[in-house]
Amino acid sequence: MDIFKPLDLGEESQKVDMTSAERVRCLIIGSGPAGYTAAIYTSRANLQPVLYTGLQMGGQLTTTTDVENFPGYPEGVSGQALMEDLRRQAEKFGTDIRFGIVTDVDFSGPVHKVIVDGEKVIESYAVIIATGATAKYLGLEAERKYAGMGVSACATCDGFFYKGKDVAVVGGGDTAAEESTYLAGLCRKVYLVVRRNELRASKVMQREVLNTPNIEILWEHQAIDLFGDNGVEGVVLVKKKGTPEEETVRLKVDGFFLAIGHKPNSEVFSKFIETDQTGYIKTIPGTTKTKVNGIFAAGDVQDPVYRQAVSAAGSGCMAAIEAERYLAEIHK
Ligand code: FAD
Ligand code: NAP
Repeated sequence: MDIFKPLDLGEESQKVDMTSAERVRCLIIGSGPAGYTAAIYTSRANLQPVLYTGLQMGGQLTTTTDVENFPGYPEGVSGQALMEDLRRQAEKFGTDIRFGIVTDVDFSGPVHKVIVDGEKVIESYAVIIATGATAKYLGLEAERKYAGMGVSACATCDGFFYKGKDVAVVGGGDTAAEESTYLAGLCRKVYLVVRRNELRASKVMQREVLNTPNIEILWEHQAIDLFGDNGVEGVVLVKKKGTPEEETVRLKVDGFFLAIGHKPNSEVFSKFIETDQTGYIKTIPGTTKTKVNGIFAAGDVQDPVYRQAVSAAGSGCMAAIEAERYLAEIHK
């Protein structure tokens, strides 16, 4: 196979200069805990990794305030500071960190091709995909206004701040069931806001929700706004929207949790890499290997279950070690 043959990128190909491709041994895509950890390990292993940060340098944690559950920080640490530390640690060992967004890939040959910003071609023997996942929001203006001030899309991360308080959780799937049950263990009262008159969650998780005394399900309710002078003090709900019984309800809560799903950032790889129905990259169980030799996936982009900074960092470490062994095997 001619690994230098041009990619078929349609209109994009006009901009891509295939003759000026840069070849590296290990390419890391993403600058969250998974990407930076993979960078620390691969640079210490002398693989001279190049890392592209994507639009959100530092990943999801840069959008939060305090992180209290990342090991090694007994007093907690700001998300920004933690990610800055990880970046500096990766740079210290020689990672070449660059700003750029991966816009296309060709994983069909023995050397993988990655297009950055629609114009630069990188060829790499090993690629670690660490592009994360993005929590879905309702799209309310108020979600932006109260970001970090009572609105959260991660109960495991932020639930602790609402100990003994009242919160609302929006959603009806397994995540909403899991998050409301988790929050019920910390909070005084949890309102589960469900847009239909049934839950999508599995039967076993539904049972758990229904058997938890401090969870109240608000059936056929939709959140339309939030209120509060100093952070979230309540949510405005519409009950039975579009029916003769439609009613607007103002519910006092201290926290507003979204649990309506996540979108893994895997679209750009989907021509070559297998994903599940939601878009999470499938890896060979117990590893970060995909079915394509030399392509590894770490962090939230391949993790529908844990989605934590420390688990992302852990799988970044795994991907780095697996990439190192792969390169040793193919002697590159
Ligand atoms: P991410 O952090 O999502 O990083 C993905 C990276 O990929 C980004 O740098 C992005 O720019 C890059 N990228 C995406 N697409 C491309 C592309 N096409 N080309 C190049 N780069 C790309 N977890 C905890 O353990 N504790 C907490 O307290 C906590 N709090 C949280 C608070 C909030 C508000 C949120 C949203 C999440 C929180 N989490 C917390 C979860 C945690 O942030 C994630 O589990 C973790 O960041 C996942 O790391 P990652 O490296 O897989 O991906
Ligand atoms: P999901 O199954 O897609 O459920 C999303 C829920 O959010 C649905 O109830 C949906 O309502 C609701 N929703 C979506 N958009 C909404 C909106 N704009 N307003 C109000 N409600 C909205 O997502 P998930 O719960 O995150 O689960 C994703 C996958 O992970 C599933 O396969 C799930 O089984 C799995 N998971 C498993 C576990 C576990 O096994 N422990 C835990 C978490 C997740 P409708 O029902 O009306 O569509």
